This record gives sequence, C-alpha cells and structure tokens, in this order.
Amino acid sequence: MRGLAGLAAAVLLTGLAQHAQAQAASRPAWTIVVHGGAGAISRSDLSPAQEAAYRAGLTRAVQAGSKVLDGGGGALDAVEAAIRLLEDDPLFNAGRGAVFTAEGRNELDAAIMDGSTLAAGSVAGVTHTRHPIALARAVMEHSGHVMLVGEGAEAFGKAQGLEQADPAYFFTEARWRALVKTLQAEKLPIPPRPQGAPAAAAAAAAAAAAAALAHDEGKHGTVGVVALDRRGNLAAGTSTGGINAKRWGRVGDSPIIGAGTYASNASCAVSATGTGEYFIRLTAAREICALVQYKGLSLQAAADQVVQQELTALGGDGGVIVVGPDGRTAWSFNTTGMYRARAAEGEAASVAIYKDEP
Ligand code: ASP
Repeated sequence: MRGLAGLAAAVLLTGLAQHAQAQAASRPAWTIVVHGGAGAISRSDLSPAQEAAYRAGLTRAVQAGSKVLDGGGGALDAVEAAIRLLEDDPLFNAGRGAVFTAEGRNELDAAIMDGSTLAAGSVAGVTHTRHPIALARAVMEHSGHVMLVGEGAEAFGKAQGLEQADPAYFFTEARWRALVKTLQAEKLPIPPRPQGAPAAAAAAAAAAAAAALAHDEGKHGTVGVVALDRRGNLAAGTSTGGINAKRWGRVGDSPIIGAGTYASNASCAVSATGTGEYFIRLTAAREICALVQYKGLSLQAAADQVVQQELTALGGDGGVIVVGPDGRTAWSFNTTGMYRARAAEGEAASVAIYKDEP
C-alpha cells in the first residue's frame, strides 16, 4: 500500500512540477500596460486622423516601456520612460496638454510606486516641472517623504536637477478651448490667456490642425502605466492635469497612493483614470490589490468588482489597468472608451480605444 501511495504521490508531485513548469513557461518574462484616460469616446467622435494620432501616441509609449523591460531594465524605469513620453504628448492630459484650472493654470499631479519595496512618491499641484512623473520618483528615492505639493515640491525638484519648464510650455489651444467652454457653461469668469501662450489670433490657424487631433474626451485623459519586469517586480505610475476647470487647489486620485496608483509584488499594480473623487473614496487601486491578495480574485474579477460594481454604484466613471506578478493583465472601465495599450515578452504591442476591442 505504502509503495502504491508513494508512487501515487510521486506521480502527483511530478504532475505538479510539470504544471508549475508549464505555468512558468507560459508566464511572460515582462509585461506592460498603458492607459491614456477613459471617457465618452466612441467611433463617431473620433476622425480617422484623431484615432491614428492617439493610437500612435499609445504605441510610442508602450514601445518605450517595452524596450526598457526587454533589455532587462526595472519596472520603475519602464513606467517612468513610458509616462515621460505621454507627458510630452499634447494629446494627453498630463504634462504638455494638461487641462487648465478655472484660473487658467496647469496644475499637475503624479505618483509612482515600487511593488517590490512598497516605496512610493507623489506630487500634486506642480506648475513648472516638465516631467511630474520624474519628480514623483525623485520624491520616492531622495526626499524621505511620500508626497510633496506645490512650490515646495518644485523647489525640491529643482534642487534635484530636474528639468523645469515655463508654465506656457504646457499650454495647448484645445485644452484652453475646453476650459473656456466649461467656464461659459458654468457662468464663471474667463481668465486671461496665460503669459507666454500664443496670442489668440495668431494661434488660431496653427492650433486648428493640432486641435483637430486632440479629442475633448469629456473631463478625462490622464495617463498611467503598470509593468512587470524580468526580475518579477511590479511598478505603477500615473500622471495628470486633473479635471478641466478644477478650482481651489483640487487634487484628484492620481497622486494619492492607494486611490489612483498602487503596486505590491504580493498582489498587483494598478493605475486608474476617471473622476478622482470616487476613486479616492473607494481607495480603488488598493481595493483591487486587496481583493486579489486576500480574497484570491483574479485580476479581472477584482478590477470588474471595483469598477463595474463599486464605482458604478457610487455614480463614478472611469477605468483601471492592472498587471500581476504572473504577467497576467486586466483592464476594466465603465465609460464608452479608454485609451489603452499592452505588450509582453514575445507579444507585439496592441492598442485599443473602444469598448468592443479586445
Ligand atoms: N483621475 C484624474 C483626476 O481625478 C482625472 C482623469 O483620470 O482624467 O484628477
């Protein structure tokens, strides 16, 4: 009997080992997912040229991150590299191309988190740092703090040698028009055009082409990246201008660790986009990771529970991207579209915008 039981156990163990090997073999060595905001985006809203421009921007970002990961770089480096490109891309609501506050300023928020150590850094309300994601990373690595805001954050960034930008650098005609439209609708005063922005008349012609490409996707357009590197480490990052016509120093979920951004090797890495107030109240990113860690939900089930059920029940809108330590990925959004892209070792980058795309 013992012999048979031993044999059975040996067969079982061999089977388990083979299963584990097969799992390991099917697990991509690295994975990256990118988002460029969620909102009311449907096929009828986007011209072919607009759609192509967004797809190209997402492709550039996911490829930049993939290059870092494929070369053996860390998840944090991949997240930062991809987000820097999106911050420079005027189509997205982060860095250049950020939405304006009601006072006509660009106040930028960003966060980054290292899943292997739970180290995190974030900034809110910065106005002249070219790459807020780099500032968030500097906060994480060199400040001894997790979150810095406003002038203090920027003084720190300057001392760290980070690239500064004139506030007019962030100006885009499309976002300015969106601000004016909202302020008119809300019967609020229209601030003067920011100093250094091209004069309205001179800008009109040049802006027409650029504005034609930028789609006013409601109030969203934040960018975010989650990644798994070859060493098995996760990272997440998010960068945004926040919400069009925001007031009173409003800060959304993106720079709040656990709300719009979270990463832990013990569960997953998440970046969110949508109306931040709801994501903050749900601690959405951490909630997804907690469902994975403590309830054993799959990434997709956890993301759907938070976005399709909890967020929707509160009346919030938006979406999330998720990656796990096994290289699996998920996204979930309750809007008609979310700009998103994904790539993995041995798998070409794929880009999607609308709900019915895989
Ligand atoms: N979540 C961002 C915020 O509330 C906005 C967005 O995702 O578009 O600041």
